[in-house]
Amino acid sequence: MSEGGLDYEVRTFDAGKTVFREGDTGREAFLVKRGRVTLSRCLEGTETVLETVGVGAVFGEMAVIGNAPRSATAVAEEETDLVVIDRDALKAARSSFESLSHRREPEFGDKPSLPGCMTGSLDPIDDSEILVAFPTELLTPEMARKAVPVGVPQTQYAMGVPAEHFDGQPPMGEIIAFYQEKNRDFSFNSTNENVDWAAYTTNPVCGCMHDCAYCYAWYQAEGLSRYKQGFQPTFFPGRLLGFSQMTPPEEIDHPREKNVFVGSMSDIFGKWVPEWMIQAILDAAEQNDGFDHLFLTKFPQKLSQFDFPDNAWVGTTVDKKHRVDLAERHFEEVDAKVKWLSCEPLLEDVAHQLDDLSMFDCAVIGAQQEYRDIEEKQPELDWVINLYRKAKEAGCKVYFKENLDVFPKELPQV
Ligand code: SF4
Repeated sequence: MSEGGLDYEVRTFDAGKTVFREGDTGREAFLVKRGRVTLSRCLEGTETVLETVGVGAVFGEMAVIGNAPRSATAVAEEETDLVVIDRDALKAARSSFESLSHRREPEFGDKPSLPGCMTGSLDPIDDSEILVAFPTELLTPEMARKAVPVGVPQTQYAMGVPAEHFDGQPPMGEIIAFYQEKNRDFSFNSTNENVDWAAYTTNPVCGCMHDCAYCYAWYQAEGLSRYKQGFQPTFFPGRLLGFSQMTPPEEIDHPREKNVFVGSMSDIFGKWVPEWMIQAILDAAEQNDGFDHLFLTKFPQKLSQFDFPDNAWVGTTVDKKHRVDLAERHFEEVDAKVKWLSCEPLLEDVAHQLDDLSMFDCAVIGAQQEYRDIEEKQPELDWVINLYRKAKEAGCKVYFKENLDVFPKELPQV
């Protein structure tokens, strides 16, 4: 087949069929058109699942672009159609791939691409992709040549320097000292009163590569002038100061008043976020134990690497069945005082898949909220009831989000 100058074929893989193996030579990139694919890697002698990707995801492109062996094994989870593009075709028509990658199943809508979004680019996705917003005064001439403006109006110092520029990590001490000297204010953002589970948000990392179809943050980043870098993950080191600048309430009337959602515009534990960055955020959160800090990820594989402070609530999203296995498997190893499960938006009946909710302290259940082109989607009442029962049987608290509206309001006929 050919489209927009890009030659490709669609290949069908039966459930359990290997698409490629770790170490293979890679000449082809893949786009999931139907079905799901599990990516795994041999770590310390054990085959470890990295991720399960679904419709719209691109994988296998790094080996093609970098001319390197496959870094993972890909296996079809179910009968799966993959758009297959080989290296030569990709080189010949790389720009066309962008439009193709947005041809999704209807539920994914017509969300256009922003620079840096995973499906909008076949650039390698690794630590070097994340930008660091950096005060220009601290740039060396060599760094300045690599810096790209991210246009953050709140500070004339903000520049993006690709993280690959740094050996290990940027000079955090200097950056923090610089902002302290300037008395820069990095307070948390206040949520509106309808958000009754957290009074604040903060985003030391902004932008995300998961590309969820229901991502309102993506639209916010597109619409706000201060996100000139679009939804490309960007680290704002100065925002770490907000954790110590904020004064916690002495007395609270409602639990929300001491809760901060860290990462409402990102996934702090996304696989592209370097470990030092995550650790810096956790260290900053630990400093202010007057607040509880809520973390949520769709990549739970990383969580067990960290020691969480007592004021961290660590959660993972299970919106669809395919996330259940990863959530349960990895949360067994997570060491956090509060562990929570976010089933928002609840898009499938996940309860039957869940074996053991007792490892979670709380399950949050919500709907897909309308926002710009995102349609409202209420879960079926049975899915909610099934999940509620399962949670209660396991001694797990349940929190119904304010956007959940499926409960019947039946009156007897007169
Ligand atoms: S994980 Fe969150 S921030 Fe990232 S794309 Fe999905 S909804 Fe958006």
